[in-house]
Amino acid sequence: MLRLSISLLLLVSAAWAEPVDWILSARYVVTMDASRTVLSGGAVAIRGDRIVAVGPRADIDRRFQAKQRLDRPESLMAPGLINAHTHAPMSLFRGLADDLALQDWLTRYIFPAEARNVTPEFVRWGTRLACLEMLLSGTTTFVDMYYFEDVVAETAREAGMRAVVGETVIGFPVPDSKTPAETLKFTEGFIQKYRNDSLIVPAVAPHALYTNSEETLRAARALANRYSVPLVIHVAETKTERDEALAKFKKTPVAALDSMGVFEGRTVAAHVVWVDEADREILKTRGVGVAHCPSSNMKLASGVAPVTSMLALGLAVGLGTDGPAGSNNDFDLLEEIDLAAKLQKVTTGDPRALNATQALEMATILGARAIGMEKEIGSLEPGKRADLITIRVDRPNAVPLYNVISQMVYALKSADVRDAMVNGRLLLRDRQPLTLDQAQILARAAGFGAQVRDSVKVQ
Ligand SMILES: [Zn+2]
Repeated sequence: MLRLSISLLLLVSAAWAEPVDWILSARYVVTMDASRTVLSGGAVAIRGDRIVAVGPRADIDRRFQAKQRLDRPESLMAPGLINAHTHAPMSLFRGLADDLALQDWLTRYIFPAEARNVTPEFVRWGTRLACLEMLLSGTTTFVDMYYFEDVVAETAREAGMRAVVGETVIGFPVPDSKTPAETLKFTEGFIQKYRNDSLIVPAVAPHALYTNSEETLRAARALANRYSVPLVIHVAETKTERDEALAKFKKTPVAALDSMGVFEGRTVAAHVVWVDEADREILKTRGVGVAHCPSSNMKLASGVAPVTSMLALGLAVGLGTDGPAGSNNDFDLLEEIDLAAKLQKVTTGDPRALNATQALEMATILGARAIGMEKEIGSLEPGKRADLITIRVDRPNAVPLYNVISQMVYALKSADVRDAMVNGRLLLRDRQPLTLDQAQILARAAGFGAQVRDSVKVQ
C-alpha cells in the first residue's frame, strides 16, 4: 500500500513537472544574485531565452522536465562574462607592433594598416575570430566600437553572441566614412535596424573628446537619446588627454564632456584613468558606467584607474579587454578579473583592496550595470536571459578548492572554460564551438595576417 502511494506520488509529480528546454547542473553554481549565493550541487532550468529557476539540483530535477540537459559535475557554472570595452575586428592586427609609444604605434602601424586593409570582409573575419576567442574564454557579451559595425553586429548575431555595437564616430576620414555627420547618419539607420533585436544593442560611439568636435559630440548624444540607446566613448585614458583638455577647455576631460551634455543619458566610458574626485562625482551624478581595462592601461603605460575609489563611490565599473591590437592582444576576461584585483592591490599598497568578489562582480553583475543591462544579464536568476558558462574545477590549478569565487578569480584560466550558452542557445559544448567554424576562421585569419604584413612591411 505504502509502495503503491509512493509510486503514485512519483507518477503525479512527474506528470506535474513543468516542461523546460534545458536543465544544466554543475558542482557549483555561482549565481551573483543579490546575496552572491554559491550553490553546491546546483542547477538552472531554462525555457526559451530565459532562466526559469535556479536551485539545488534535486529541487530543479523534481520541478522540471527538460528536453535537453547538460550535467557538469566537474565544473562550476557562472553568468557569462561581460567584456565592456573592445574593438573585435582588430583581432586581425593582434601583435602587429608592440612595445611602442602610443603615437608611434598609431601613426606608423595602425592607421596605415587600417587604411590599406579594413574592408567589410576583414571586419567579418576579424569579428568571427574575436567571437571564437571570447566564447572559448567565457565571454558571452561584448561592447564594441570600430568600423563597419553593421558587419560586426551581423557576425556576432550569427555566432549567437550578445553585443552592444557602435560605429566609431571620429573627426577624420576612416575606412568606411568621410565625415562624422556621415557616420551619425549611418548610425541612425543602424539603430533603426537593430533596436528591437534580442542579441544586439545598437549604440552611438563617438571615439573620444580629443578626436571629435563639440558639435559632433552634442549630435551623438542627441541621437543616442532620440532612440534611448547607450553612448560609448573613451574617456580620460592618458595623461596627455587630460593635459590637452586642461589647456584647451580649462577643464578635465570628464568636466569638458559633461559641460557639453555628453553624459546626459546612458553612457559607457572606457578607461577613466585620469580622473580626480570632482570628475568621479560627475560620473556618479550622471550615472555613467565605466569600463576598466587593466591590461590595456598597463601595456600602454596609461596609468592606473582609481577603481577602488570609484567602487567606494558606488559607480558601476565593469571590465574590458580593449584591443586586441597592441593595447592588450587578447580577449581573455578571466585575466582582466585577476589583473584588476592585483593592480589595485599593488598601487594602493593594500592586499585587501578590490577583493575577489568585487573583481568577479565587475565582469558579471556590476559590468551589466555599467552597460545598462543589469535587468537582463550579469547573474543567474529567474527571469534573466540564459547567458551562462561552465568552467572546469578538476584540473591541477583548481584543486583543492576552499572558496569558489576566489578560485575563479585567482586560479582558474580561460582554457578551463568548457561550455557557453547565450540567450538559451548552447554556443560552446565541451570547448567545441557550435556556431563558428574554427578551422576555417583560423585559416582565414592567417591569410589576412599575411596581407597585413605585406601592407605595412613589419620589421
Ligand atoms: Zn578602446
